[in-house]
Amino acid sequence: MTTRLRYAPSPTGFLHIGGARTALFNWAYARRTGGVFVLRIEDTDRARSTDEYEEAILEGMRWLGMDWDEGPGIGGPFGPYRQTERFDRYERVAAELLASGAAYRCFCDSARLDALRTRQREAGETPAYDGTCRDLALEEAERRAAAGEPFTVRFRVPKDGETLVQDLVCGEVRFPNADVDDWIMVRTDGTPTYNFCVVCDDSHMRITHVLRGEEHLTNTPKQVLLFEALGLEPPAFAHLPLMLGNDGKKLSKRTGDTSLQDYRDKGYPAAAVMNFLCLQGWGLDETTTIFSLDDLVRHFDPKDVRKGGSVFDPKKFLWMAGEYLRRESLEELATHCAPFVVAAGLATEEELAERAEWFRAVLATERERIQLYSELPARIAYLFQDDDAVVYDPKAEKNARKHEGRIELLETYLEWLRPRLDPLDVDAVREATKAFVAERELRFPALFQPLRCALMGAAGGADLFDVMALLGPERVERRIRAAMERLA
Ligand code: GLU
Repeated sequence: MTTRLRYAPSPTGFLHIGGARTALFNWAYARRTGGVFVLRIEDTDRARSTDEYEEAILEGMRWLGMDWDEGPGIGGPFGPYRQTERFDRYERVAAELLASGAAYRCFCDSARLDALRTRQREAGETPAYDGTCRDLALEEAERRAAAGEPFTVRFRVPKDGETLVQDLVCGEVRFPNADVDDWIMVRTDGTPTYNFCVVCDDSHMRITHVLRGEEHLTNTPKQVLLFEALGLEPPAFAHLPLMLGNDGKKLSKRTGDTSLQDYRDKGYPAAAVMNFLCLQGWGLDETTTIFSLDDLVRHFDPKDVRKGGSVFDPKKFLWMAGEYLRRESLEELATHCAPFVVAAGLATEEELAERAEWFRAVLATERERIQLYSELPARIAYLFQDDDAVVYDPKAEKNARKHEGRIELLETYLEWLRPRLDPLDVDAVREATKAFVAERELRFPALFQPLRCALMGAAGGADLFDVMALLGPERVERRIRAAMERLA
């Protein structure tokens, strides 16, 4: 049997990292088993769903490396793939369930239901529908509905017995039916509810495995009972552990960014995000922390997902971002960093493209020092400043001014350096400069601090001789001359 998995986001917000992990696991298992991955948009909450969110979710999925076989835009044999376009189907199923008696019309109005809930709460009971309309004769219910009386459609949950959920992650979970309310399938305004749509769609779309967040486990008995009422076999379920913040509570904005987009905007490599999110509940084995999308596809099985909350550690995430960044080729790094450099206003895309080789050299000097693409612009801004107006960091300037003979030394050094700049042999000049300092019985900072301030305006950073190579002979000279005036 072909496996069919789906990711079913509600476009009521940006892609949450928990949602991204759910999507990755479903996608990976579909790919691993040679099955089909379906994208279904659950947009029945019309007030909160937007096209912008839907596009952002799709964009986030693509960014992580996922593709889908059926879905909005591309279609497929079980479309449409947006729930708001499937209402006729829900109506048909609701009618079928009413006719078979598996569902019933409920005419209780909200005032009555509110009063009921309040009474039950006051008595210390769990609020539940009391079944007033459960045993209305079908003819009477049809007559009242035809007369225009508003109603909801409720699912008739068996009073006895229990519903067994065989969960691939949580194991066997038993829900006494007495604890499952006669839940509403269709609201008074005719709109279908989540549990109802999901079963209609998962059955129609022939979904074989449902991997989703643990918060949906309590919905599962309702869905299983509905599958049974329709005479259908439910899919296999796997409920994924909640992602917890380092305070042990559900991950929130306070303990870490929760939207995938935040990580993208902050310059996390997509592959690092994929890897880190998968580690929240799954691992390639006991020890491997770094794995690729291919590894995930080759090995992912929902049975191996760990039960119980996984703690999300932002520090480890940052470390992992750096690991991935350093594994990229300079070409890849250039592609990934360029948008950040452009956004910071340092150069245009065209300018970077024209100086591609130079930009790669810049990256070669910086890549050991950054963990995120977004850290680059601030570190290399000095390269894009005018030579006579390099921004001096106050600390760099203070360091430079500590040295009495700085101006004369810069002058002598420039004389010495000029013939060695073109062509510049970085390693040779570095060694020769050390000798230059030693011969004059100076300490290294006496030259290097004013020189660093002159060339970069910074107190630390890249190797000075790499910086010389990046600036080129004329700019090095101009910067040193400017410093001789500015640091006097
Ligand atoms: N639209 C639901 C959500 O975003 C999907 C739940 C499910 O996978 O059944 O939580």
